[in-house]
Amino acid sequence: MPANDGPRAPDGRPGGPAENLYVYPVLSRRARGISIGINLNPDKVCNFDCIYCQVDRTTSPTVREVDESRLREELTAMLREAKDGALYERPEFRDVPEGLRGVRDITFAGDGEPPSYANFEGVVKDVLAIRNAEGFRGLKVIVLTNATLIDRPKVRRALRLLDADHGELWLKLDAGTEAYYKVIDRTTIPFAKVIANITEAARLRPIVLQSLFMRVRGEGPSPAEVAAFCERVKEILAQGGAISLVQVYTVARPPAESYVEPLADADLDRLADEVRRAVPQVPVETFYSGRPA
Ligand code: SF4
Repeated sequence: MPANDGPRAPDGRPGGPAENLYVYPVLSRRARGISIGINLNPDKVCNFDCIYCQVDRTTSPTVREVDESRLREELTAMLREAKDGALYERPEFRDVPEGLRGVRDITFAGDGEPPSYANFEGVVKDVLAIRNAEGFRGLKVIVLTNATLIDRPKVRRALRLLDADHGELWLKLDAGTEAYYKVIDRTTIPFAKVIANITEAARLRPIVLQSLFMRVRGEGPSPAEVAAFCERVKEILAQGGAISLVQVYTVARPPAESYVEPLADADLDRLADEVRRAVPQVPVETFYSGRPA
């Protein structure tokens, strides 16, 4: 998903070494350092079609399949480069300040929905094994997802592996109503299913909600939509869900649709304050567009 963007981080998009197909380093605002991304959807196929998606689908994918042995090699090499400092000799990371040097996490994000990959569980196992073998045992592994497939048994098993290994699950929730969800995420998957899956996931472990708000044809989300979003968050908590963080962010890179624009910092702050008032027990973090007002 990725910010996936998504499901990807607000600032993440595949990049880095041109020769890599699946593993890419990102200097991440949210991670305050380097996040190593894993792209299991090089075909750029996703079951959402978010109007703010940062995946460039105007160009054909270079590869469509995941070559798992190559993915393993790329991850191993990336971690070794981080360890011996060669990563910071790459032109794109040469100017990274000292305080931001260091790998903060490994994140499944990329150009689609990571849990849609048939052998997601196997890749999760491999990633954990390589991370440990390369001396990064403490590094957390994050999955960014739109929550639509996480009720599948094999995806559940993969997430359980991460639960047992200080992993984190970051779930996209961009709306409070079905109508707005359809405008933003453009999918036929019912909103109720997304909410049910998020709720179930949050009952099993604390989750992070990633919520992107934007202006659509000049209009930000209405007060009623923001109130409905807060209600959904409250309902997840009321049903026994645990939310460790709500990330409220906006568009930071060119979106799929030209009528999508970032929210101004002040509007994002107001929205985040509303979420804080609704669920004072949950931390709320904001990520601005970084574009001049
Ligand atoms: S369409 Fe949406 S869910 Fe799919 S990759 Fe793009 S931002 Fe993520």
